[in-house]
Formats: sequence, structure tokens, C-alpha cells
Amino acid sequence: MAVTGDTVVWVGQDGPGRALHPGAEIVDLDGAFVAPAFVDAHVHATATGLHLSGLDLTTVHDGAELLAAVRDAVRPGEVLIAHGWDETTWTSPRIPSRAEIDAAAEGAPVYLSRVDVHSALVSTALVDLVPETRDADGWSAEGPLTRDAHHHARKTVRAAISPAQRHRAQDAFLRHAAEHGIVSVHECAGPDISGEADLTDLLALAAEPGRPEVVAYWGERDATDLARRHGLRGLAGDLFVDGALGSHTACLREPYTDDTGSTGARYLDADAIAEHLVTCTEAGLQAGFHVIGDGGVTEVVRGFQIAEKTVGQRALAARGHRLEHLEMIDTEQAALLAGWAVSASMQPRFDALWGGDNGMYATRLGERAPALNPFAMLAATGVVLAFGSDSPVTPLEPWESVRAAIHHHTPGSGLSARAAFNAHTRGGHRAAGVNDGMTGSLTPGAPAHYAIWDAAELVVATSDSRVQRWSTDPRSRVPALPPLDPGVPAPTCLRTVRGGRTLFEA
Ligand SMILES: [Zn+2]
Repeated sequence: MAVTGDTVVWVGQDGPGRALHPGAEIVDLDGAFVAPAFVDAHVHATATGLHLSGLDLTTVHDGAELLAAVRDAVRPGEVLIAHGWDETTWTSPRIPSRAEIDAAAEGAPVYLSRVDVHSALVSTALVDLVPETRDADGWSAEGPLTRDAHHHARKTVRAAISPAQRHRAQDAFLRHAAEHGIVSVHECAGPDISGEADLTDLLALAAEPGRPEVVAYWGERDATDLARRHGLRGLAGDLFVDGALGSHTACLREPYTDDTGSTGARYLDADAIAEHLVTCTEAGLQAGFHVIGDGGVTEVVRGFQIAEKTVGQRALAARGHRLEHLEMIDTEQAALLAGWAVSASMQPRFDALWGGDNGMYATRLGERAPALNPFAMLAATGVVLAFGSDSPVTPLEPWESVRAAIHHHTPGSGLSARAAFNAHTRGGHRAAGVNDGMTGSLTPGAPAHYAIWDAAELVVATSDSRVQRWSTDPRSRVPALPPLDPGVPAPTCLRTVRGGRTLFEA
């Protein structure tokens, strides 16, 4: 592969390549694997950065361990932010009480987000910073805060973070992304998630040379001025139609299997969804929503149908609107969304984490669980798939996402390695409105966004079942990806290049 400036100019065999580019700097890959760099289509930069440098609760095994971790980490005069507890994986599912959190926190404001970031355990000192949290929907005097009470708590935490703390977090996030072969992230910002100051700082940081691209979305209605002010791609991302399954707030058509009195929460109806679609379509912006449950998806599809009556199918499709998560969707709905050229920004590791006979999906949804995250059906129906992490919900490990998409818990729902890889590369660029047919691939004329991986020890099976060492030589006709069978180590990143400029080098 030859690169001039920011562009791939030639791809082919080694000898002729060197002859054609006599003065070129030569990078000998020494058996390493080069591929288009990844796009992460759904991230929360600052939250992830705080997580990278903060307290990790993903490995605690019960409430007692969580309390001990808080006791160790708490510092007088500072807000303690920690993330990742998941009582469904604990040896005992009992969640610590507010009084227990207070005792461990020794008077400090403490915010401990659940793994799905749709609920959080907090200390009384945190609530005292914004007392109206106690009157909000989702308030609990004892247990985790959900819904509006949780949004209040999150806002409180955000206000308590210093600009220096935020800068460190965003810098850590962008470096971390580059270290994992990622050249572009879709930041899902919003008024209840991160705030405008956070977005301003992130975009300024991302404008520095040598950083991954940050495509920013803002999850708010009636915010076209804000979108213009920041040059955003759209009013999309985490504009919440519903919540999450783990927190019992995803909007369902039928009640939760483990909470038969509840069908979850719905924050927007079809008319509001339609209005947003029309506003964005007319303003030249992408629209989009966070939607997970089948009740939420039904509402979104109705919203598109209503919007189509105003602006027409072609104008809607021309904007390439997008939906985040889209976990519970049937074939008929998928076909309708494909007709409006909607992209599905999905997180394959959700299935890896929560799918299967004994997973959280099965607990919450019973027999409905195996139909979740139907990647193969969506791809076959013509919906553009764009994969991501929803970091900090799952880590920035794109090869693990590709692996999870291949090895779906439900037979028939997974993708081929090639399709899964495309969804994490070209699909991401497409979901951000880049539809030139080249960006995200390594063909002449494409932007030189690539990553080099240590996959040298891996062997690949050829179509005629011979086994070969990985080769980048196009003549060898081996499948163009390293194997991602369960247990095989994922490739490790040696270098990440965006537009010909190195972002990371091991
Ligand atoms: Zn999100």
C-alpha cells in the first residue's frame, strides 16, 4: 500500500509497488497485519476518561466489596466517581443501602453508576448538593436512583468536576481510542449526559493535530442553534426515547418478565419523534434517538411514518438518520427503517455481556431475549450497521466487538467476520454521513485511515481448508482478517494512522 499525504494512492504487490514509488519511506510490516482503522459509533468521552483514571467497579463481586472499594477510594473534599457495578453478576444480588454508602463515604459526595449508566447509587452528601433530586421521578430513599432523579444526580456530578479534571479525562480518552486502532469516535453528548461546556472542550481538544476525529451528536430537541454553533453532524445519539433493560427502563410492549407490573419508561411519543425528524431533515442535520425496547422501537417507526407525510420519503432518506442500540426490532420494522436509509448504531458486546440462557436479557425478558440484537436480520434487510462500544458501558476494544458480533449467543443472529469488521469501519463512517464508497476501506483514493496490528502468530484457514500464517500479500488469497474464534487472543495495535498522520505508535 502506498500513501501520499493523507490519501491511499496505490495498493498491490510488493515489488511493483516499490518500483512505482522509488523515493518513498518504506515501513516494513514484518508480518504484521494492516487494515482499515476502526470507528466507534457511540462513545461518552469524558465519562470514559474519568473511568480510565478513576475507580472501577466492574470487578466487585458483591455489595460488601463495593463498599470496601468506596471506603478505599474516597478523598475528603472531592466527588468520588465510580462506574460499572452489576448486581446481576454478583454472588449475592443485595445492593448496599444509602446508609451503608454514607458510612463508607464518610460524608463525601459519591456517585456510583451501574454498568448500563441508567441508574446509580449515591451518597446523601451528593443528593444534598441538589435537594430537588428527592422530588424527582425515580427517587429512592434507599436504593439506586433511576430516571429523572438519576439525571439530576448526574448533572450534579458533572458540575462538581473541575475543568482540569475534565481535560485530563478527555485527553486520556482520545489517547486510549488511538491506542486501540480507532481513528474516529461518535460522541453522544447531550444536556442530561455531558453538557455544552464538556462538548466545547472536547471539540477543541479533538481539533489538535494527531487526535482521532470526534463526530459529535447532541441529544436534544429544538437545538438547531446549538448544532450550528458547534458544527455538529446532527441532533442525535442519546436523545432518549426510553432507558435500558438492566435498569427496567427500556420501553416494552409487554411487561418485564421479572417485574410484571412494569413496561419500562418512555420519554418521547411518536408525534415528538416525528417533529424532531422533520426539524432536522429541513435543517440539513441528522436526527437520531436512543431506543432499546420494542415499545420504543414501535414509537420510533410511527414517528418516521408521521414525518414522511410532511417531508416525503426521499428527503428523510437523504439525511441518513440514525438510531442507537435498537436492540428489540422485528423484520417488518427493519424493512421500514431501511427504506428511510436509517443507520443502526449497535453494540455487539451487549449480547456478549447480557445474552444467553442465563444472562440479564433472559432474566428481564424471558422468551423474548434470544431475538435481541439481530445483526444478521438487520444486515440482510438493508439497514446500515455501525458498531461501537457505548463506552464506558463496554470497553474500547473493537476486535472484541467484532468477535461478539460473529459469535452471537443466538444462532443465526451473528455476522460473518467480514460483515462485522465492515460495520466497525466503513459502517461507522456511513452512519456519520460519509457515503463516498471509499472511506473506511484501503483502496486508492480513500483517506489513509489504517491501523497496523500484531497478529503475526495467528494462523488463518483458507477456503480450501489449508492453514496459513497471516499474510498481507493480495496474491495469497487468504481471508483478509485474522481469526477471532473464542479463546484466540485479539490482535494488539502497533500503529494507528488517520489521514496519513500517526496518532499512536507502540
Ligand atoms: Zn450512550
